[in-house]
Amino acid sequence: MQGERRPVAIVTGGSRGIGAAVVNRLAADGFDVGFCYLSRADAAEQVRIQAEKEGARVVCEPVDVADQDAVNRFVASIQQQLGPVDAVVANAGIIRPNPLVMMSGEDWSRVRGVNLDGAYHLCRATIYSLMKRKRGAIVLLSSVAGVHGDATQVNYSAAKAGIIGIGRSLAKQVGRFGVRVNVVAPGLIETDMTVDIPDRFRERVLGQIPLGRMGTPPEVADLVAYLVSPRASYITGQVFCVDGGIVL
Ligand code: NAD
Repeated sequence: MQGERRPVAIVTGGSRGIGAAVVNRLAADGFDVGFCYLSRADAAEQVRIQAEKEGARVVCEPVDVADQDAVNRFVASIQQQLGPVDAVVANAGIIRPNPLVMMSGEDWSRVRGVNLDGAYHLCRATIYSLMKRKRGAIVLLSSVAGVHGDATQVNYSAAKAGIIGIGRSLAKQVGRFGVRVNVVAPGLIETDMTVDIPDRFRERVLGQIPLGRMGTPPEVADLVAYLVSPRASYITGQVFCVDGGIVL
């Protein structure tokens, strides 16, 4: 890549789990990467050091994606340090499962704020630059809960279904500018998000997965990396499940 500008990727929630795997994979694929995280700066620093071993320039900053101004500042900072963005991955997410009868307004609005508003904020902050340069790809992380629903997560399922709405609509809006938008919907993946799942529930869910196991972050990152690469140049507006064939 010497002499050539490395493409630039921006990833939210890159300090752990799927986001960390995406940062590493994109760095290995030749991207410079800017990523954000909410807490645990130590974990983010480890991801940065690891990704830099791939020869990438890597910048990480603490940002709450639920805050549009903070996301705008983050995107401006990454573009200033690394250059205009070519790939955008809205990955940051949280869960707060609870039956609706016990769900607080705060559980509803924070889950929507991080997952759905967070994806919107990142798209809003990057879309004009991509349209102007007539290139680029966006990948939004949804979930099988957004595709099929999840009995204990009305908040999360609604937010993740909303992300599918953003992805399909935005793909139609910006396709003529050469910008592609796709959605990745993981099933049950081994990360901090799923570490506290009670054994009884885990056994039941594993029984619904034809491949008989949980997925790993690199298995999701592989698809994200493919979708932002030129190999996926004729793919837009799609929703891809990475879920071991889970039947919900
Ligand atoms: P994780 O909990 O392991 O990591 C979440 C990441 O998001 C961290 O880097 C954290 O710092 C960041 N984050 C959380 N809130 C944030 C905020 N307000 N602002 C900025 N960053 C924030 O999660 P994961 O399992 O790697 O999940 C990644 C994405 O994949 C999420 O969107 C999640 O909903 C989705 N997903 C995960 C699974 C799974 O089984 N793990 C399944 C389906 C979908």
